[in-house]
Amino acid sequence: MSSEKSNALRFFLSPQVFSFCTSLCAPIARSIARCPATLRPKRFVHHITASINEEAAAKASATTADNDAPTIFDKIIAKEIPSTIVYEDEKVLAFRDISPQAPVHVLLIPKIRDGLTQLGKAEPRHSEILGHLLYAAKVVAEKEGIADGFRVVINNGPDACQSVYHLHLHILGGRQMKWPPG
Ligand code: 5GP
Repeated sequence: MSSEKSNALRFFLSPQVFSFCTSLCAPIARSIARCPATLRPKRFVHHITASINEEAAAKASATTADNDAPTIFDKIIAKEIPSTIVYEDEKVLAFRDISPQAPVHVLLIPKIRDGLTQLGKAEPRHSEILGHLLYAAKVVAEKEGIADGFRVVINNGPDACQSVYHLHLHILGGRQMKWPPG
């Protein structure tokens, strides 16, 4: 390859060009998402608007994270709203996510929140329940038939798109997982 061509290639692959493209793409994506539905490429816009909405919802949820108000999960624990429970013991409850991101997508929560709105609020007194949750995650994975390959996720805070402020583990499996996650 000529030195002119290889210089051009180096330029296009440089971090500066990458970060310029990234900063250009976000506002364009937002503008497309605001266009009338008939003018948009459907699949792309669905993806973009979903992730923008998800981020906005996560930021809104975070503003009320520590007011100790009951969350949707309290209603699930109290069986005031229906859920498909897959495992339960005296300390934890596991039920299917309403919006599954994999063939198996189970949420595992402590029955008593005790200040654990998110993992970032953990204190030494929570060590036992945190350990129990991890053990229970393994039990759930076995019961769901995904013990050979599953992922456990905890979204912590608005930057991680946490939307419900009652600590919960996502247990995902039944398909090939990719890395890095989005
Ligand atoms: P986060 O975004 O906070 O990590 O996860 C919250 C999860 O709770 C999301 O995956 C969402 O789909 C799930 N979820 C929200 N509301 C309900 C509900 O009413 N029932 C069930 N089963 N899952 C819910």
